[in-house]
Amino acid sequence: MRIVLISTPIGFLGSGKGGGVELTLNSLVSGLIALGHSVEVVAPKNSKLHESNVKAKLHFVEGEDQISWQHQNYNSHVSIPDNSLLAGMLEKGLDIAKHSDLLLNMSYDWLPIWMTLNLEIPIAHIISMGSESLVIRNLISKVYAKYPNNFAFHSKMQANDYPFIKKPTIIGNGFNLDNYIFQDSVKGPLAWVGRVAPEKGLEDAVYVANELGEKLKVWGLIEDDMYASKIEKSFPQGAIDWMGFLSTDQLQKELGKCRGLINTPKWNEAYGNVVVEALACGVPVIAYKRGGPSEIIQHGQTGYLAEPDDKKNLLYYVEIIEKIKRKKCREWVERNASVDIFAYKVVNWLNKVIIEYK
Ligand code: UDP
Repeated sequence: MRIVLISTPIGFLGSGKGGGVELTLNSLVSGLIALGHSVEVVAPKNSKLHESNVKAKLHFVEGEDQISWQHQNYNSHVSIPDNSLLAGMLEKGLDIAKHSDLLLNMSYDWLPIWMTLNLEIPIAHIISMGSESLVIRNLISKVYAKYPNNFAFHSKMQANDYPFIKKPTIIGNGFNLDNYIFQDSVKGPLAWVGRVAPEKGLEDAVYVANELGEKLKVWGLIEDDMYASKIEKSFPQGAIDWMGFLSTDQLQKELGKCRGLINTPKWNEAYGNVVVEALACGVPVIAYKRGGPSEIIQHGQTGYLAEPDDKKNLLYYVEIIEKIKRKKCREWVERNASVDIFAYKVVNWLNKVIIEYK
């Protein structure tokens, strides 16, 4: 297949603003190329693909970012800025797609989904979030009625937010295992990784570490400064060890030294890349039983699932985390979330989409 991939219209690839989509896109590109497909990526200016993806052609587009939907009201209208990056990426993508088999959209936004109704070339959508916008949810419902194959989701829990989709295509996610080194650090610190934003619930992880008299190591982009400083003020000084946003290689080296990752989603997390990245390093995960992490973590085998928003329950499981065998964490990723497995699932799905247009 010749595939044109549209990136997220929030931040350039490598900025961290696009969250998990950035890593997912890179995994997908390498998986598709390894299977012999050709991939061109349309992405914001300054974007970088991983070194292993040199075979993919990267097209840059300049323009204004979209506002992330999870930080707007559920009933917000669609807003498209002047000199829209999203519109620019779609224009560019459509132009290249004249010589391609399919457009693959990775942005969670209204415009590319609406275009499905008006294009002759197949356009498939990887939906990267739960239902964060009424207008997008309703549009997916409308497009689904005509094109039932064109949507894929990362987890069943995520797809549950779109109950009108009868048999959702679940593609999981993929990780290049070579990029993550197993470490047997049973005595290390506690970690938290993610965008520092309200939907990620950092405060509950700080609570747990603080109860244990420990500093919590926090990696990730501070997306919401006010939220970060509010958390900082509500705990004793120095409760958080801010480690900043690191590249995958640096992050996995540091993360692997930790004895556990605390994952505290307050929203219906579509997947939870950081959960799998921790497991790949041998780090067990204690998470709220909510969204993607509740499908990834094998309770009692690769970590523990606590009752959502129950900090005491979270603390209880963190205290027994050494019972988990770190090798089992890595093995789960090898068996369930490699780049190859992910790319196979995506290709099977895209083949169905293409057939629908013949
Ligand atoms: N991440 C990173 N460096 C950091 C912290 C996080 O590259 O220092 C990446 C991480 O690898 C993951 C992404 O940020 O791919 C977060 O994705 P996740 O699916 O966990 O949440 P999202 O931000 O998409 O809601």
